[in-house]
Amino acid sequence: MTALKLLCIFAHPDDESMGMGATLAKYSAEGVDTHLVCATRGQRGWFGPEEQNPGLSALGQLREKELRRAAETLGMKSVHFLDYVDGDLDRADPAEVIARIVTHIRAIQPQVIVTFPPDGNYGHPDHIAIGQFTQAAILCAVDASFADAQNLPPHRVSKLYYMVDGETFINFIAPFMGDMTFPVDDQIRGEFAWKEWMVTTRIDMSAYCVTAFRAIKCHESQMTTIGALADMPEEMAAQVLALQGAFYRAFSLVNGGRKVETDLFEGLRQADGDTRFESYLRSIIRQTKGVRMIQQFKIIVEKHPDGYVAYPLGINGVVVGEGDTYEEALADVKSAIQFHIETFGKDVTLGGETPVLEAFVAEAGVAV
Ligand SMILES: [Zn+2]
Repeated sequence: MTALKLLCIFAHPDDESMGMGATLAKYSAEGVDTHLVCATRGQRGWFGPEEQNPGLSALGQLREKELRRAAETLGMKSVHFLDYVDGDLDRADPAEVIARIVTHIRAIQPQVIVTFPPDGNYGHPDHIAIGQFTQAAILCAVDASFADAQNLPPHRVSKLYYMVDGETFINFIAPFMGDMTFPVDDQIRGEFAWKEWMVTTRIDMSAYCVTAFRAIKCHESQMTTIGALADMPEEMAAQVLALQGAFYRAFSLVNGGRKVETDLFEGLRQADGDTRFESYLRSIIRQTKGVRMIQQFKIIVEKHPDGYVAYPLGINGVVVGEGDTYEEALADVKSAIQFHIETFGKDVTLGGETPVLEAFVAEAGVAV
């Protein structure tokens, strides 16, 4: 069986832990290969006094280290960077970003990809951009005519998810987080809460929320961004994080329907394969039941001046066919036999217990 692989494609170090750390920890613990492609090193995420800002490169290195520790905490198998600068992603050359993502998709060969929704969770331009690039890259990755830098063979992704924030979670964390709005161009952006009915997939990862909180804490330089959550006792923070685990299934080649999924790999597991095989078997059995068994009948065909008359031997009741020719009379009696058996049941045939061994044509005088 091929290994199950989950690839997250996000914008900044910490998106993975803060957004879906517990889900990643759960899948890693269950033996799924979890991978991360991170577009930037979060070089602009400095929240200390400006005179202490180490600068883009040094902060990028620090955040890369933080991310690698977090990924290790979550049991992730690999972390890759696209090498863009934090905050510049939505102005990068789309063809170049897409090609870089394609290489990672083809190299890792995930069945499932998770990225940001169109709202970027809270309107962050980098988040929105990486979500768009990811979708384009999934299209290109499967296209054999699209050559990536490493000339890797095409790969078809089976499912794409958006990591979303449901209303319950947003309403719950709002008091801890304080003001979550920020200006972009001349508009104020902020958290976008998905209606609960929009959520297609809910992962129960509550057992992994302490691990997720530890992964979040690996991003030491970012602790001011999570408000009061940063100082909460582990167990309490874990309860807050347990309200995450909401996803939107943007597409799936393997399943569908309105029922809320509880697994990003629904439709892809071996057991699902068995179920599909079983349902295939069931359909074959159903078809077989519909197939009529061929039963042989001896049929008398009489020739008359105005046509032919045919009737079977070995059947209770009168069954007669007619036709202008021998063949027509035979065809007519065959369908009459079918109709007779369908109407009166198989018991009308004497074929089983007292088969007709031979038929004789005799002449007998009967008083009428
Ligand atoms: Zn981010």
